[in-house]
Amino acid sequence: MTQVYDKVALIGLGLIAGSMAHAIRDGGLAGRVTGYARSQATRDTAREIGLCEVCDTAALAVAGADLVVLAVPVGAMAEVMAEIAPHLAPGATITDVGSVKQSVIDAVAPCLPAGVHFIPGHPLAGTEHSGPRAGFASLFRNRWWLLTPLADTDPEALARLDRLITAMGAKTDRMDAPHHDLVLAVTSHAPHLIAYTMVGVADHLRRVSGEEVIQYSAAGFRDFTRIAASDPTMWRDVFLHNKEATLDILGRFTEELFVLQRAIRMGDGQQLHDYFTRTRAIRRGII
Ligand code: NAD
Repeated sequence: MTQVYDKVALIGLGLIAGSMAHAIRDGGLAGRVTGYARSQATRDTAREIGLCEVCDTAALAVAGADLVVLAVPVGAMAEVMAEIAPHLAPGATITDVGSVKQSVIDAVAPCLPAGVHFIPGHPLAGTEHSGPRAGFASLFRNRWWLLTPLADTDPEALARLDRLITAMGAKTDRMDAPHHDLVLAVTSHAPHLIAYTMVGVADHLRRVSGEEVIQYSAAGFRDFTRIAASDPTMWRDVFLHNKEATLDILGRFTEELFVLQRAIRMGDGQQLHDYFTRTRAIRRGII
């Protein structure tokens, strides 16, 4: 593969940045990969596993980088951007991998120095694991990576970032930030909240009845709640920063749930069967 950037700086060294470091290194996609995370323990781990050139300040990591990737929780983007803004090289591109787009644009755009390109992005790839040891090179293979460029985004900077992402194995698509945030509320954010809630229900039952229930988790509970093992900081920030869209989808979810609840109460097997037949066909169409 051909090198796309001279120096890529990864800010935050968790699952996503770690996976990018592996994929970029394996593919020879950058001359150098530097990284910074706020916690000393994370930097020590990243150094120990040889993830990238780990720096002790964000300023050092981004100095001279032609691509800077913000891979911290959505709520930390503003703080990180304020910290690195004075150290960004002219002509550099800055992107992020946050799960919410409009709030990241609102946080990053006002701090952007002249001559620095900002291209917001979101890889639709992840696991329930976090931290520098969680990353792996194939995480993005055949997965979507959505870009939400702004009206004045430089087409050359966009094409170059697109080249890096596709070289890591992902497929790119573009959409506007509000649409992204609504789509992700239904396909990712609300399902995580519901999974967390289901574990909470089981735990409440255990506490009030004194009976162990989680220990006997059936396959459905295990499959459905796998994502409830995801990082609490990341998910707190997603809900705080995609509030309106998440509340909209949860309202719609509750209405559907009430329909099924009523069908069960009324013994309306036909309605349940029709509903499950329709949704099974939709689910089977998702690869
Ligand atoms: P992670 O918890 O594995 O890693 C986050 C990293 O950010 C950690 O290294 C942490 O030390 C660092 N960090 C936190 N606050 C910081 C700060 N103020 N300054 C510097 N470093 C800081 O998280 P992740 O799963 O890699 O998620 C990173 C971003 O990617 C988030 O915005 C998340 O919404 C997004 N994302 C996650 C997934 C997923 O499934 N995990 C998928 C797509 C996008």
